[in-house]
Amino acid sequence: MRELTVSRRKFLAASAIGLGAAALSNFNLREASADGPTAPPPKPLGFAFVGIGGFAMGQLLPGITRAKYCKPVALVSGHPDKARAQARRYNIDPKNIYNYDNYDSIKDNPDIDVVYIVLPNSMHAEYTLRAFQAGKHVICEKPMAVSVKEAQQMVDAAKTAGKRLQIGYRMHFDSPTQACINAIRNGDIGPLQIIEAETGFRIGDPSQWRLNRKLSGGGCLMDIGIYSLSAARYLSGEEPTEVFAHTYGDASDPRFKEVEQNCDFQLKFPSGVLASCLSSYNANLNRYVAHGRNGRCILEPGQAYNGVKFQISKGRSLQAVDVPPLDQFSGEMDGFVQALAGNSPFKATGEEGLQDMRIIEAIYESARTGASVKV
Ligand code: NDP
Repeated sequence: MRELTVSRRKFLAASAIGLGAAALSNFNLREASADGPTAPPPKPLGFAFVGIGGFAMGQLLPGITRAKYCKPVALVSGHPDKARAQARRYNIDPKNIYNYDNYDSIKDNPDIDVVYIVLPNSMHAEYTLRAFQAGKHVICEKPMAVSVKEAQQMVDAAKTAGKRLQIGYRMHFDSPTQACINAIRNGDIGPLQIIEAETGFRIGDPSQWRLNRKLSGGGCLMDIGIYSLSAARYLSGEEPTEVFAHTYGDASDPRFKEVEQNCDFQLKFPSGVLASCLSSYNANLNRYVAHGRNGRCILEPGQAYNGVKFQISKGRSLQAVDVPPLDQFSGEMDGFVQALAGNSPFKATGEEGLQDMRIIEAIYESARTGASVKV
């Protein structure tokens, strides 16, 4: 099998996700030059993590130690013992441990520049708004909120505060994903026709917040199907105009009493490209395929913390494309700091997350009514 290689600098410069996000943003963005940053590297900014759960402890805190321009300086948690243990591990001053009641006093702490919200979905909007009121920038995990109304409030609050909002779309910082987008935009597989995007996993404990509608806002679509949606948007480079969807939940299964177990949805894009998307809380799915007139691109796994594999076929056999890996977690945090410093475009903006929420609401409406819904 012949292996293609892509130079890291060229491919970062041509990052199609970055350009897509910039196109969606209402802000005037300074584009990075093809030769790299336009200003000196920024001084490291202090990050506060809100909600010290599986993702914060397993990925984000280890990830920030690999970052160049960020450092962990504060924790917000309902469990002081756990917070103290994590503070020791990451050399965080114990005076910078907060709880959900005294959270607003972060406004008096100049060590904190950026607040990273890693709470259950229905808490994202409240804690983002409170961070902006405290005068901090925010990265908020996906899905950014549980409704369009909340997502819009978050975007508006950032503008009112004069601060920036990024959503935790780590795949926007994944190098094989970016290489795949570049190949599609370069016309390597001919005009794009159809996208397949499948994401899912078998969820366990029925008592967890992901299966509690009040805390999650929805089931597999909100949690993992959002990756299929996001992929359909960044692979096509277009915004869907119409959606059609089904959801299903086995009411006799204690896990699916409140939220959907499976959701399939179709998206229609202005160029005529169609996307067929699956998401599940009861099956392992992880593959994106973009079919062009003259070939196809495959990302499999389509989303993963690392190890996304990109293959391309230009009409003949599939070839693996060797792309230098970039760390998604330090990448998203350093990327935010670089963008704040004016050295690179903002990616994964609040507006990007708001657009996903609009489409998610349309998907749920279609599943409820049995009719296609215009976005
Ligand atoms: P966890 O359940 O592992 O952690 C959530 C944390 O939120 C808890 O540990 C707790 O922290 C805090 N919390 C506050 N109130 C509640 C409550 N009522 N119920 C449960 N937890 C509460 O979830 P995850 O870390 O897996 O997910 C957190 C967020 O991150 C979600 O929005 C999820 O979608 C997103 N995520 C994103 C991923 C990505 O790849 N981008 C991957 C995984 C998750 P404490 O004890 O410190 O108070």
